Amino acid sequence: MSNSSPTFSRTGVLFVLSAPSGAGKTTLTTSLRQKPDFVYAVSCTTREPRRGEVHGEDYFFLSDADFQARLAAGEFLEHAEVHGRRYGTLKQTVIEQLQSGVDVLIDIDTQGAASIRACGDPFIRSALADVFIMPPSLDELRRRLMRRGTETEEQIETRLANAAKEMENWREYRYTLISGSMEEDIEKFRAVMRAERYLSRRLIHHAR
Ligand code: 5GP
Repeated sequence: MSNSSPTFSRTGVLFVLSAPSGAGKTTLTTSLRQKPDFVYAVSCTTREPRRGEVHGEDYFFLSDADFQARLAAGEFLEHAEVHGRRYGTLKQTVIEQLQSGVDVLIDIDTQGAASIRACGDPFIRSALADVFIMPPSLDELRRRLMRRGTETEEQIETRLANAAKEMENWREYRYTLISGSMEEDIEKFRAVMRAERYLSRRLIHHAR
């Protein structure tokens, strides 16, 4: 028997997380980011920062003109208009990390997830592991948004209408996690991360 053992490396997984506004996604991503075994790709947006949000950490807050210039320069992997504001994922960081075997997490809406699924780059499509967080109900979502208190009543109604539409798209995702307590959501998401990291097709075999 040969004493040479095979060695393996793997390409990164692109974890795409979508959840209607108020489903607890920000708390979930903040908590996941405590264990930095992946890179969180910070999105760009033209919306105003909320209290406590930090430029470069929560979002890159851009003017409409700056967003448009980056779009024209082809800097976005995907982009969408959500609640009347523009959002986009920067391509360069995501691709560089995935190629070097680092997992990336992005938090995007259902339009963004659909455009990544349909993207022309087979490397991105095969890196993708998309997860939808399903809120327990629209009533619970309304309660959570009201408790958060960062939106006006009108904005809450817009977000709820948008949530109802987003919730129709759950079947498009590889995973759907029914939202429970924050601890349960984290545990479920971590289980998905573990499984995706063991997919045979992500492994690169290096013969010695
Ligand atoms: P919020 O304004 O509450 O932070 O986010 C509103 C929505 O925009 C959320 O559903 C969030 O997932 C989505 N979003 C955040 N960043 C991006 C992005 O880069 N692309 C897309 N398509 N959606 C995003």
